[in-house]
Amino acid sequence: MATPAALTTWGIINNGCGSWPGRAAVTAARRSAAAPARTALTALLEAAGQEAPAAVALRRELHASPEIGGHETGTASRVAAALGEPGAPAVTTGRLVRIGAASGPSVAIRAELDALPLTEQTPVAWASQNGASHSCGHDVHLAALTAAGRAVRRAGGPLPLVAILQPREESYPSGALDLVGSSQLEAQDVRAVIGVHVHPHVACGQVSVGPGPVNAASDEVTITVRGRGGHAAYPHVTRDPVIAAAHVILALQHLISRRTDPMHPAVLTIGTVQAGAAANIVPSQVVLTGSLRTFEPADRASLWSAVSATAGATAEAYECTAQATFTRGEPVLDNDPALAAAAAANLARAGFGVVDSLRSCGSDDFAYYGTRYPSLMMFAGVGQPGTMNAPGLHHPAFLPREEAVEDVARVMLAGYLAACSVVLPGASVPAPLAPR
Ligand SMILES: [Zn+2]
Repeated sequence: MATPAALTTWGIINNGCGSWPGRAAVTAARRSAAAPARTALTALLEAAGQEAPAAVALRRELHASPEIGGHETGTASRVAAALGEPGAPAVTTGRLVRIGAASGPSVAIRAELDALPLTEQTPVAWASQNGASHSCGHDVHLAALTAAGRAVRRAGGPLPLVAILQPREESYPSGALDLVGSSQLEAQDVRAVIGVHVHPHVACGQVSVGPGPVNAASDEVTITVRGRGGHAAYPHVTRDPVIAAAHVILALQHLISRRTDPMHPAVLTIGTVQAGAAANIVPSQVVLTGSLRTFEPADRASLWSAVSATAGATAEAYECTAQATFTRGEPVLDNDPALAAAAAANLARAGFGVVDSLRSCGSDDFAYYGTRYPSLMMFAGVGQPGTMNAPGLHHPAFLPREEAVEDVARVMLAGYLAACSVVLPGASVPAPLAPR
């Protein structure tokens, strides 16, 4: 395990956009991109810059007081208030904040409210002390959304912006399911949904935005292996489920390497093994849990049945039984091609390097929005080249630098305007709203 000092150094240097050598060039490109003509994009980016200091302060506040999934009411209230709508309607432990005309078509931006049950290991004065931590960057997303929302109020936008403050991104049942198909979100007449996630595998100053599938479908499997327990000294009268479970774990690995088309990404990870309670007892059962990730619906279905069959047949060879049960998780996150193309053009105008490099077997319940609305997830860079092993998402020392708040706000606004142009071509920009 790394020492706290080493973690400190990594947390500051390797997650820091501020130290990225190309930052000055990006800033200069932004200035020149903004210089020639005042467009809706440049007006919104300028407004976001004015909102950035308050958003950075809010990020610190949220970071210091994280709430885990299902308990995010304090975070939701604080962010709704920062968006100027403290009375915004609640959806379970989340909120919906609408900025702009009270009716008619809108574009939504999703940010996640929840932190992880993880003890933070960063040196900052505003580090969490409560056993939870924003080690997935959701504090950055929330703060950025307040800057983006307030920028739309300040500068105006072609369509109303609906800020989705979503609960339980990190836990099941997924919080996106509270929103998708709900009467509250349906009432907003949402025509497209935008999401942004910070990512340490994308360099600072770059944004990965691509059409089509970018994240996998994700399911959980629980395998219960049962045998006959007894005394460790008399194994011949037991049927040891530990031995059977060990062989089940190994046997399952061939399902990806030999039963799945190598051109189809798929992952099967066994993450927990729970067996007996004492060294001198053969337990009567072992419980395994794992994560199954796929991109092809046919692979998802065939792997579910292959996992059950392989676990059962392998356990049987040891005169044990194995039963697999599955929890269906997020679908494939499938970016709308028109939104991706329009957002890429806006991001380039905003001075970002646009890449299409990040497609992974990660998962995000943002995928559920794509089952009902055109949607787009973008990955905003907070990493530096060659630092793949630095603390990343879900590491207790992961800490994007403060510049990431404005970067993410800019990416959100580029996506918002792209969505406006796709769903309502030729829409004019109404006058700014009264400040709150
Ligand atoms: Zn996350």
